[in-house]
Amino acid sequence: MYAQRLDNLPPYLFARIDAMKAAKRAQGVDVIDLGVGDPDLPTPDHIVESLVAAARDPATHHYPDYTGMLSYREAVAAWYRERFSVELDPKTEILALIGSKEGIAHVPEAFVNPGDYVLVPDPGYPVYKTATLFAEGKVHEMPLAAENGFLPDLEAIPAEVLARSKLMFLNYPNNPTGAVAGLGFFNEVVEFAREHDIVVIHDNAYSEISFDGYRAPSFLEADGAKEVAIEMHSLSKTYNMTGWRIGMACGGADLIAGLGRVKTNIDSGAFDAIQRAAITALTSPQDCIAQSCDVYRERRDALVAGLSDLGFSVTAPKATFYVWMKVDDSMAFAAKMLDEAGIVVTPGVGFGTYGDGYVRFAITRSVERIEEAIERMRGMDL
Ligand SMILES: *Cc1c(COP(=O)(O)O)cnc(C)c1O
Repeated sequence: MYAQRLDNLPPYLFARIDAMKAAKRAQGVDVIDLGVGDPDLPTPDHIVESLVAAARDPATHHYPDYTGMLSYREAVAAWYRERFSVELDPKTEILALIGSKEGIAHVPEAFVNPGDYVLVPDPGYPVYKTATLFAEGKVHEMPLAAENGFLPDLEAIPAEVLARSKLMFLNYPNNPTGAVAGLGFFNEVVEFAREHDIVVIHDNAYSEISFDGYRAPSFLEADGAKEVAIEMHSLSKTYNMTGWRIGMACGGADLIAGLGRVKTNIDSGAFDAIQRAAITALTSPQDCIAQSCDVYRERRDALVAGLSDLGFSVTAPKATFYVWMKVDDSMAFAAKMLDEAGIVVTPGVGFGTYGDGYVRFAITRSVERIEEAIERMRGMDL
């Protein structure tokens, strides 16, 4: 019944975990879910109020502009200038997205011909691979290894792959490893992309979720980045707005125009009322972000201290709300955690072959629940 392309998709491990989780809950188990990459914190009030007012204005009830409201794109430009000192032309270098996942999923359609390679980090956000497959591209995995700080080794990409590569996906601060990358690395990537004629898609969804004074850069801060890169960004993690579906693609005008042509033929833009609320989020005082980060930092510290106390070796991430921990067999570990302790963690293999041997904890639950999870793990033979 289904098209071949659905058969080509890798098995969606997360659906299986969801089913196992639901079965446990049905048995009456009090499940502690440290699997979901979705903030448990609410969207700040001033943003919600702004949506309510905008939704009451009939002017927002029509088809939105394909590229996003100009005032939204101007707010994004001002935010990029203030936050990253990156200058963007709101008319040509910014596109509104219906969440950054939407932009990531559509971007290969604009740049990849059947049989072209896309360079994808492994472990990584699963959409990079599936979007490549939908565009009939070939995936080349770039392993992210602990000994390399979870950065890809560009020199290790075979020449014959490079010759047919059109896109490279990168994501720092990184999901699932929690690793960060500096401008030095981004500058190297720009050079590499120029040399091999590759478009870089940098996913910066976690730039604002950071700790201990660390501030993540934008890929567009690298010299000449705009000519070779699109940065996908989003309000989802920054302002606890995952359900709202609003993000932005930023980069060189020609690149943005390519993605825009795909989108114009597929969707009709993000609801104007949501864009107005997003303007409020981007242009209001930003202390709500620091407050969220304080909450995550406290949880991160509780989890890392607890896991260390249990004898695991973990490093506290400088950014993202994920803790990436080495285990023997990621599937077996996750299954045992759910079965014996009612705790959901994500097996690293769900993010790619090179994620096996790790599990991901999402600190999207309270300190009390995290401490309860540590207590349940005590005495287990893990
Ligand atoms: C959460 C997430 C996104 C997508 O967020 P949107 O809600 O679609 O903006 C993109 N990339 C990574 C790595 C994520 O974890």
